[in-house]
Amino acid sequence: MWWIFPLPFVSSCPVVKTFGKQFNLLRCDMNKEKPQAIDPSTSACVIPPALPKGDLHKLMFRYSEQEAQEIGDYVEWQAHGEETVLHAEKVASERVMGHDHDVWDIHTDKGRWWVITNPTNLYSQELMPSLDYTLSFHIGLMARVAARRELDGSDAEREFVLVTSRKLLQAGEALDAADEAEEFQAVGMRCRECLITFIRELADGFDFGAGDDPPKAADFPAWNDLIANTVAPEASMEYVRGYLKTTGERAWRLVNWLTHAANATSADAHLAWDATAHVVANYTRAVLKMKAKAPDQCGRCKSFRVRVDWRPDLGDEGMYVARCEECGAQEHPASDQIADDN
Ligand SMILES: [Zn+2]
Repeated sequence: MWWIFPLPFVSSCPVVKTFGKQFNLLRCDMNKEKPQAIDPSTSACVIPPALPKGDLHKLMFRYSEQEAQEIGDYVEWQAHGEETVLHAEKVASERVMGHDHDVWDIHTDKGRWWVITNPTNLYSQELMPSLDYTLSFHIGLMARVAARRELDGSDAEREFVLVTSRKLLQAGEALDAADEAEEFQAVGMRCRECLITFIRELADGFDFGAGDDPPKAADFPAWNDLIANTVAPEASMEYVRGYLKTTGERAWRLVNWLTHAANATSADAHLAWDATAHVVANYTRAVLKMKAKAPDQCGRCKSFRVRVDWRPDLGDEGMYVARCEECGAQEHPASDQIADDN
């Protein structure tokens, strides 16, 4: 049996000398690939060589090859292939506010990293040598990211009303920072501006058949009626049309009231922002579906899981394309039927 001392004990260390009387030690010779067992009675105490990093995992008690592989792949992906992982070791696991975070010590051919999971992020050990400090930093950072406002809807929907999305996000951030009545009123103004911008963007992106006499740009109620009548025209859609009209009209009245409400509260401002975001989400989804000529049901597999993707690689300026999430079939706007993508 070989006993291996992983720490670089100095040759004068009395502990090593004591052990050396009982066990064979390994000669520290960095020029030789294989350490050689020596007789302690005829030799001085020696420093054991460092183990090759690629073999360290063989000596680890708790080791999941699958987990280590995933973390290693993550680090190499983050390093854009410029570093190769030599060793991955889980060194800690901590539960904070009900979430488990594993901490990995990663050795690459160029340096060392901490990788902390859930969600996964990596930190240079050169810049952040303390594991405890890095874990605290990670949890704080992730809490802030989780608190950041994000809009509902798909990438294609946000792309379709890009300016509105930006304004809505800014209104939400202003809401998060607001403490006083006038700041809540300012949120109302931002929401009002958002709805007017939204109408303009929708009218630019889709023909609502307003002809030569469209409503004025700032006449939200008139546009609200026109859009609801366009996206839900059939008699069978009476309740859908009614809901869209009512929510649009009520949201418009609410944000207008908020801009002048001297006693506005945080709850009022939240309600106005939620109402605005709801109207934007409803109409964007419906109008985009019409623009992409997306069917309710896939013509190939009959699934209702049809979504609209934004494809900047198609056409001169990009294109919205309906795609079945179930079978992958896509509908090109120029074609009449869903075609097999393959
Ligand atoms: Zn399908």
